[in-house]
Amino acid sequence: MIDTQLLQRGIRDERVLTAMARVPRHEFVADSYRAQAYDDNPLPIGEGQTISQPYIVALMLEMLEVSEEDIVLEIGTGSGYQTALLAQLSRHVYSIERHATLAAKAQAALAKLGYTNVTIEVGDGSKGLSAHAPFDGIVVSAAAPDLPPALFEQLKEGGRLVVPVGPTEAQFLQLVTKKEGKPVLSEQIPCRFVPLIGEQGYRA
Ligand code: SAH
Repeated sequence: MIDTQLLQRGIRDERVLTAMARVPRHEFVADSYRAQAYDDNPLPIGEGQTISQPYIVALMLEMLEVSEEDIVLEIGTGSGYQTALLAQLSRHVYSIERHATLAAKAQAALAKLGYTNVTIEVGDGSKGLSAHAPFDGIVVSAAAPDLPPALFEQLKEGGRLVVPVGPTEAQFLQLVTKKEGKPVLSEQIPCRFVPLIGEQGYRA
């Protein structure tokens, strides 16, 4: 996975590559998908949702440039796989998932692997998590119609927000930084994510 899917496609961040070599992706999929856990595609995780393709996860983490001092917010816990990677890379991860069943499974997988710097909440992540804001970095694993204002608001000055923005069929993965309180868009990569369902996302 690391060689053919990440290195060959240009992922260079050593911390990201090391974290991806360490976190056992098969622990985040159902037993029936274990044999395919390291394949080059997303896989079903229940509730009509998917665990993201390894390359996309690596790309998002590389764009986010998390440091070990950072407090990060993740929207769309899903399987908890990317949450585990963020836990390896940062000081603390707050992660929000709208499906309680997925949040519970992710929590169990993360506990089994011994991660203690993760807080998972069930709710609408499109509104962020104001109680713990501001964040050094925010990563959204579901597609938003526009940049969700609450999330930008909860980003620290100089912080980085990685979010897929666009119509439900296809989006651009955007890197937005906060400079003098304003959003600066610096990267746009075509992508396709499940929709962000919520107040500042799409309607259910
Ligand atoms: N990185 C995760 C991706 C999961 S897919 C993984 O690799 O497993 C995206 C997740 O976002 C889904 O689980 C979906 O239920 C969740 N989601 C969608 N809208 C949401 C919202 N408003 N708040 C929180 N989670 C949301």
